[in-house]
Amino acid sequence: MQAVHLSRRWQTQNWSVAEVEALFALPFIDLMFRAQSVHREYHAANKIQLSTLLSIKTGGCSEDCGYCPQAARYQTGVENEAILDVATVVSTAKLSKQNGASRFCMGAAWRGPKQRDLDPVLEMVREVKALGLETCCTLGMLKDGQAEQLKAAGLDYYNHNLDTAPEKYGDIVTTREYQDRLDTLDRVRGAGINVCCGGIVGMGESRTERAGLIAHWPASIHRQSRCPSITSYKSKAHQCTISWQVNAPSTGRSSSAPSRRHASPCRTVL
Ligand code: SF4
Repeated sequence: MQAVHLSRRWQTQNWSVAEVEALFALPFIDLMFRAQSVHREYHAANKIQLSTLLSIKTGGCSEDCGYCPQAARYQTGVENEAILDVATVVSTAKLSKQNGASRFCMGAAWRGPKQRDLDPVLEMVREVKALGLETCCTLGMLKDGQAEQLKAAGLDYYNHNLDTAPEKYGDIVTTREYQDRLDTLDRVRGAGINVCCGGIVGMGESRTERAGLIAHWPASIHRQSRCPSITSYKSKAHQCTISWQVNAPSTGRSSSAPSRRHASPCRTVL
């Protein structure tokens, strides 16, 4: 029952860093039990959703996220590619559905979309939604009005990660601020789109900073989102954007992170 109380509190209040650190200190088996108890409160125990993530625009990004080989300023071997055409995206989505996916996510390496970027994405969302798939996008930061356009096109989820703890943010990204991420999440929720939000660990943050990433997660995001989704920087196990980072240095900026092209859409189990 304690796990149930924890999950309800998680959705309504912020936690202190000390409280999260106390959770970290629990025996691993106890943590697994609590996690399973919370999971079974909200989800069928042995049911998973299969999703496919396709990079619709790869490389050449103006941001400087220290974990990402798509940043134009890092020499990673990832080429700057034009946005995929709508027909290619739709045919990939059809294939994903045939292979069992029920959600299709379209990711683009942008600081944020300009209107001329957004227009073809809106068409992709409409076409993918018409296939009977749930739709998800991750396009970077959104300006006023853009989330509403995506909602009107049929977007179900928007992925936007908080990257790392607020105290650590300047060590990982300098081209935007932590508050910028929160502002985009507010726009997404304000438009009635589900938030898919997470963070990355293993980038040199301290245990306390890692606890801070969770503790500072706004309670308002908990209530309407699939989060927090915490991903290990070295892990192959979760998101495609993270699998790009396999074997990259665990701290600081990298000029030699390995490349991975968009042509192999990977699958995410949510
Ligand atoms: S994580 Fe996204 S915003 Fe950051 S450099 Fe990579 S593609 Fe750009």
